[in-house]
Amino acid sequence: MSTEHLMGVYNRAPLEVERGQGARLWSTDGTEYLDCVAGISTNGLGHAHPKLVQAVTEQAQELWHVSNIFRIPGQEKLADMLCENSFADVVFFTNSGTEAVECAIKTARKFHVANGQPERIDIYGFDGSFHGRTYGAINAAANPNYTNGFGPPMEGFHQLIWGDREALEAAFRNPTAAAIILEPVQGEGGCRATPDEDLRWMRQMADETGVLIIFDEVQCGMGRTGKLWAHEWAGMTPDIMAVAKALGGGFPVGACLATAEAAKGMTVGVHGSTFGGNPLAMAVGQAALSEIAKPETLAHVNEIAGYLKQQLHGLKERFPDVIVDVRGKGLLIGVKLAPNNREFMGWARDEQKLLVAGGGDNCVRLLPPLILTLDEARDAIERFEKTCEFARNKMAAA
Ligand SMILES: *Cc1c(COP(=O)(O)O)cnc(C)c1O
Repeated sequence: MSTEHLMGVYNRAPLEVERGQGARLWSTDGTEYLDCVAGISTNGLGHAHPKLVQAVTEQAQELWHVSNIFRIPGQEKLADMLCENSFADVVFFTNSGTEAVECAIKTARKFHVANGQPERIDIYGFDGSFHGRTYGAINAAANPNYTNGFGPPMEGFHQLIWGDREALEAAFRNPTAAAIILEPVQGEGGCRATPDEDLRWMRQMADETGVLIIFDEVQCGMGRTGKLWAHEWAGMTPDIMAVAKALGGGFPVGACLATAEAAKGMTVGVHGSTFGGNPLAMAVGQAALSEIAKPETLAHVNEIAGYLKQQLHGLKERFPDVIVDVRGKGLLIGVKLAPNNREFMGWARDEQKLLVAGGGDNCVRLLPPLILTLDEARDAIERFEKTCEFARNKMAAA
């Protein structure tokens, strides 16, 4: 076995993962790791959660796939649940986050066509965003690392500087503007959270100008910030929202949610998917959503997040030479480092058996499963602290 026959697009850690349970992972050589990556915010309920195992096992014996030319009861049920628990009236199911984003962008443009304003095609994204790897998504995020070499930029996509309110206001007032697309809390880009007040202002501007708001909550949604959806903290709602990652707890599923008004252009035949919304994915999605939406799950996230935040700020005081900033929201935590983040991730993994994710702006991200216990959180902090010590010694020796 080797990576020889895999396209070389990943910089993989030298760690062969075999088995997981809750916030623990075991490699093939039997080493146990504390997992604060959770499949990049995907295993929201940890590994091998009994309710998810049961859901997928039972469904696997009933029906896997039928095609969207038939009614799929599990799909109707999960759509009901998502709409009951959000601003949305309708849902389109996908297999991934980037497809949910793709559907969101298409929905926004079609809305304006249905409104008799087909000239409104402009989609505004922000620097430091990540929306996935399809053409629409890379053009929306406009990160040159992901667009370079893939042909000319797609027409109608524009990038704004995150936090530049004047530029954003001009975008809203552009008569050909269709939508803005934003992660309320950025994930890959370095965990920057848009202030609540700015989100409320965006809602006002959108209502005034007819521009739609698309939220990409693929990473920050599904309980990650301590509310089911990150935008709930601001007391406002988008018109369209992309969800995925923890919706399937590790099983591939995504969803594009929209108000009935915003989705009015999405009529028969304009969009579709073979696998999207298949019975297996829907069974797992129902189990994950009903578990994560429970008030006690969200209360737990807030408790653990509060502890980690406080402890990490303490570490920042003690290791100002290692930790530059602590940011993010809930259990989407970014720690901006002085030493190289990739190197730090390797030290945490090899020396402390602690798994953390990388991120933009030289951050490491802590994205533990939402069910991380307080004891495990203490353990994670201890291991993180020891990694900071290790980093300090390394830097002193260099
Ligand atoms: C992961 C991610 C995506 C892409 O999801 P895929 O399932 O990899 O296509 C899109 N947006 C955000 C914010 C993400 O974190």
